[in-house]
Amino acid sequence: MAQNDSTAFPVSFEFFPTKTAEGAAKHVNVRQELYARKPEFCSVTYGAGGSTQEGTFRMVQAIQDEGVAAASHFSCVGATHAKVREELAQLQTMGVKRIVALRGDLPSGYGLGGEFQYASDLVAFIRKEFGDWFHIEVAAYPETHPQAKSPDADLQAFATKVKAGADSAITQYFFNAYYRFVEGIQALGIQIPVVPGIMPITNSSQLMRFSDATGAEIPRWIRLRLQAFGDDVASIRAFGLDVVTHLCEQLRSQGAPGLHFYTMNQSTATLELCRRLGL
Ligand code: FAD
Repeated sequence: MAQNDSTAFPVSFEFFPTKTAEGAAKHVNVRQELYARKPEFCSVTYGAGGSTQEGTFRMVQAIQDEGVAAASHFSCVGATHAKVREELAQLQTMGVKRIVALRGDLPSGYGLGGEFQYASDLVAFIRKEFGDWFHIEVAAYPETHPQAKSPDADLQAFATKVKAGADSAITQYFFNAYYRFVEGIQALGIQIPVVPGIMPITNSSQLMRFSDATGAEIPRWIRLRLQAFGDDVASIRAFGLDVVTHLCEQLRSQGAPGLHFYTMNQSTATLELCRRLGL
């Protein structure tokens, strides 16, 4: 399997672990279709509290076996140093070189506790225990993390993660606000690449649900158009492709260092976006 061409504009794809053998078998085809776009890496999410650890590592291993660089997301909330050390050592043994280091959100029902408070604690721990083995990505929130005390406090928290040893960042998806965030961190002396996270629009109710949960704002004009389409899936997809293609074109022409697609474990919309963007 060909890896990415270093002269090409970098793209990466995000997946979540499949839950069934049937889902896993179908996802092999999704990955193969997406590999044709020569991603820099493919990442796999990790349920907070370690809830998906096995499934995450299984998919990470499959991606590595398919000859593509895999990144494991890794959330530290509720975890002990010993457990995190053990799991990271497992990823190192698997030959994984890239981690998306996160705090995560504990599902309700899990107690607090654990030996990490913020993602910056995890980044510092990885650097202390594993040196430069891992390329460390961290999460960025152009529209401010929902629990942040203020936008400025969130920028400071981001700077703390970077100073702890992060190499680059991937953003929450957004439909505006990226450059204000980049200017904000540059003003704090932070220069790492911040790759926009891109959410294809294929389903109105799913997008609204995610946006309510993550605080990623859907501009009023997009929300109104989506509502007006009702159950007309074809029109939603056509509109979604136009909106997201335009967003990606703008980001690319104004200097974004790459694009990270939230594929939702599907290939169709992401492939069409890549085709339209000539990626
Ligand atoms: P942090 O950077 O620790 O920030 C969390 C909050 O604490 C912020 O409000 C921040 O402002 C504040 N804060 C940080 N440091 C300090 C400090 N020193 N003092 C005071 N306040 C501080 N979740 C998963 O469970 N699994 C995944 O695989 C996953 N993948 C993701 C991938 C991307 C690209 C993104 C953007 C998010 C992902 N998430 C994932 C969601 C993420 O776990 C949540 O958004 C979580 O609430 C915050 O994680 P974080 O790593 O950004 O936390």
